[in-house]
Order: sequence, then C-alpha cells, then structure tokens
Amino acid sequence: MKPDAQPKASHFINGEYVEDPAGEEMPVVYPATGERIAMVRAATPALIERALAAARAAQPGWAALSGTERGRILRRAADIIRARNRDLSVLETLDTGKPLQETLVADATSGADALEYFGGLAGALTGEHIPLGGGNWAYTIREPLGVCVGIGAWNYPTQIACWKSAPALAVGNTMVFKPSETTPLSALKLAEILTEAGLPPGVFNVVQGAGAVGAPLVTDSRVAKVSLTGSVPTGRKVYAAAAAGMKHVTMELGGKSPLLIFDDADLESAVSGAILGNFYSSGQVCSNGTRVFVQKGIKEAFLARLTERLGQAVMGDPLDEATNFGPMVSEGQMNIVLNYIAKGLEEGARLVTGGKRAERPGFFVEPTVFADVRDDMVIAREEIFGPVMCVLDFETEDEAMARANDTEFGLAAGVFTRDLQRAHRVVAGFEAGTCFINSYNDAPVEVPFGGTKASGVGRENAKAAIEHYSQLKSVFVRMDALEAPF
Ligand code: NAD
Repeated sequence: MKPDAQPKASHFINGEYVEDPAGEEMPVVYPATGERIAMVRAATPALIERALAAARAAQPGWAALSGTERGRILRRAADIIRARNRDLSVLETLDTGKPLQETLVADATSGADALEYFGGLAGALTGEHIPLGGGNWAYTIREPLGVCVGIGAWNYPTQIACWKSAPALAVGNTMVFKPSETTPLSALKLAEILTEAGLPPGVFNVVQGAGAVGAPLVTDSRVAKVSLTGSVPTGRKVYAAAAAGMKHVTMELGGKSPLLIFDDADLESAVSGAILGNFYSSGQVCSNGTRVFVQKGIKEAFLARLTERLGQAVMGDPLDEATNFGPMVSEGQMNIVLNYIAKGLEEGARLVTGGKRAERPGFFVEPTVFADVRDDMVIAREEIFGPVMCVLDFETEDEAMARANDTEFGLAAGVFTRDLQRAHRVVAGFEAGTCFINSYNDAPVEVPFGGTKASGVGRENAKAAIEHYSQLKSVFVRMDALEAPF
C-alpha cells in the first residue's frame, strides 16, 4: 500500500491551501509503476493574480522584520523538515521515482541545509561603510529586490524550492514558486512547513502548472526577479521575457559536462566518480559528467571495472530501501532517453552495457555505457538527462582539455588524477562553473553552484546567492559645506 500522496489542494496562497475547480487537471504519476497517485489542477489566471497580489502585499512587512527574526523562521522550518524527513522523502520518491535510499539523504535534508544556512546568515546581511576624503563618507544599504518568482525542474523538487526560497526570503523578498508540472507535490509541503514555522501569509506561495502558468509570472510588472531551474531552451525564453522587463535573473540550466580520468588516477575512485556523475537519480542530474574522457592507458581496465560495478545496481521498487537505481521521472523522459540510445547505436558507438528499457512496470531504463564515442556524435553533444554515459578516449592533457571545453555548455567538470599540479591546472582551464577534483557532484550549500556559457547565469547557494536576491542602495553623506560653481 502506497502512502496517500494527494495534497489538500493544488496551490498554496496567502498562507493557505486553495483550489480553483476551473483549473486544468494535472495527474501525478508514480514513475515506478505508471499509476496515478494524485491529481492537482493548473492555476487559473485568477489564482496567478491572487498569488502575485499576496506576495506583493506581504513583502514590505516581511522586509521590515529584522534579519534575525526572518532567519529564526527559516531555521525552525529546517528543524521541522529534518523531523519529518522520512515522510517528506517518501513523498519525493512517489513524485519523482527516485529511490528512497537517495531521497532520505539528498532531498529534504539538502533543502533543510539551505533553510538553516540562509536562516543563519539572515541576521548578518548588511551594507558597508565607505570612508571618503574630507570627513565625508558613504554607506550602502542591502535591500531585497521585492517579489521573486521561482520556477523548478522535476529532478530535485524539494531542493530546488529550498535553494530558491531560502536566500530570497532571508533577504526580505517574497516568492511565488511554480514547481515543475511533473512533480508538483513537495513544494506544497514546504509552504505548509514554512507557515507552521511562523512565516507570515503571502511570503511564500505555490502555484501549479506548466509553461503557460510560468510565462505570465515572468512578465508581471510586480515581479523583480526570476530564478529558473530548467533546460537551456526554456532558459533562453524565460531570460528573454525577463529582460524585456529589466528583471534580475538566475538561470540554472542544462549541461553536458566533461569528466577527465588520467592514467594515474585511483581507478576505484574514478569509477565511483563516473557512477555518481552518471547514474545517481538515474542520470537525471544537471551537473552530470556525461562525457567521460579516459586516458588510453586505463581505458579497458576502467570499462571492465565500471561494468562489473554496474552489475551491482539494484533496480526495483524505489520505496524499498535496498533499491539504488530508479526509473525515469516520466514516460516522456524515458522515450527521450531511449531515442538517444538508438541514436548512439546508429552513430556507431560501442554499447558496453545496458541500452534497453527494463522489463518491468514503470519507466526504467538500464544503466547504459557507450564506449568509442566520438566528439561529433549527437550522444556526445546533447544533454540526454538519463542513465547514459559516453566514454571517449584521449592521449594528452592538452587534447583532452580542448575537447572537454568544445561545447556550448559550461555547468560542471571533473578530473581524476593523483598529480596535484595537473589537477589544479586542468580545473583552471575548464570552462565550467562547478568543478570537482577526485570527486563528483558534491553540492553542499556552503559552496556556490551554477554554470557558465549556455548553462546559466548567476549562482545558487553560499554567500554568492545573496548577491542575486538583493541590491545595494548607495548613500553619499557630506559632512563639510557643499560648494557649487555658481
Ligand atoms: P524544462 O525546461 O522543460 O522546464 C523547467 C521549468 O520551466 C518547468 O517548471 C516548466 O513548467 C517551466 N517552463 C517551461 N516553459 C516556460 C515558460 N515559457 N515560461 C516560464 N516557465 C516555463 O526542464 P525540465 O525538463 O523540467 O528539467 C530538466 C532540465 O533542467 C535539464 O535540462 C536539466 O539539466 C535542467 N536542470 C538544471 C539544474 C541546474 O541547477 N543547473 C538542476 C536541475 C535540472
């Protein structure tokens, strides 16, 4: 028996659950079986208006609290999330299909980390004093931007909602958050928990729907900032729409990140890095190192050990904690991935393992590895967003670097080597926002996260995120007499 996933209502506006029966139905499907587990409705224009009006009305009062008071509420919410981690993780598993083994440690908990971190920082956010000559001086006031819109992807729904709301709210902004239409459930829980923790009505609102609900949020004149996590094509549209209104943006978009494994690397760790960077969350991670460049000397040993370890993947019911490999989030995403696999075969890449839909209910695709992949193949150039690893071989560091950077994306990059100088040299040369040395896909809240090139604009997490949710007002103060030319 699966736990009940049906929320009390589809949206959370001005401190309460709300429904508009006129909204289009959006079934919520458990990806491990294809069964419908809940039903929500897309927001109607009337509800979008209510959410924006609530966020606008609540903003001055929220900003007028001290940072310490705001932070206390965020930290209280973090404590509630931790106390309910198991229930929240089960809900995230039902919504996304990610194994409970993962969601118990990587979703609600990382959301709680963000609320705790930015809650702690809230009381310490200040402007600065700038001494000038002649006894004059200036100071800066760090101000919130106003109403922020957050738009999420479906791979880390709780984490994305927290990574956006925690820094926004810490500074004194309010937010209207639209989760992905594929995974609408956990953002509602976050709104409920924030309210329980003392958040005033209207400070964090959730509306459901697809792009048709996202688009009017982005263009509304009351909105000062848009933070999107999604694909590059959506990012281009949303960034352009936000630019017309001269709004601030954060764009966390897709990638096709390189992972370089040198002959001198610790083979077991390198295989672990490649597994974490390709098969965690069944490959549905934006920063994945999906172009694995392996130096020729260890290529066959790497492939042999990788195949052996992939044999230990446990595909099964994601609610069973022994399962460590789950389904794709949806039938549509499964078909996208299967089409890319067919393309790889057609282009002549060598299929090392996997390559098929698993013979079981739900949207499972086997962990798949292609070797002898060439740089110009579609599977090496486009983001697949599924459990498909491309292994490419290389001879020299210079060659590997040039090929690693030859992409429109710039989200992440990694290197495995025991040579300290080479590790730092390689990372310095990567055209990517988030890099890893002898590791892959760590994303602690203390460290800025984000991309370069087409992979994004701005940074989430760490103190860097504060810059993207606040603006400085500069105040010049003259202490001596003011002169003028006439
Ligand atoms: P998507 O681009 O299809 O959708 C993202 C969100 O944008 C959804 O909520 C969607 O409803 C909304 N949207 C779509 N059109 C819109 C419009 N015109 N105006 C406003 N909102 C609109 O992405 P997805 O399929 O949900 O997620 C997968 C993608 O997200 C992958 O490319 C992945 O790499 C990326 N991603 C990036 C990060 C990161 O931090 N860089 C993290 C997770 C996922």
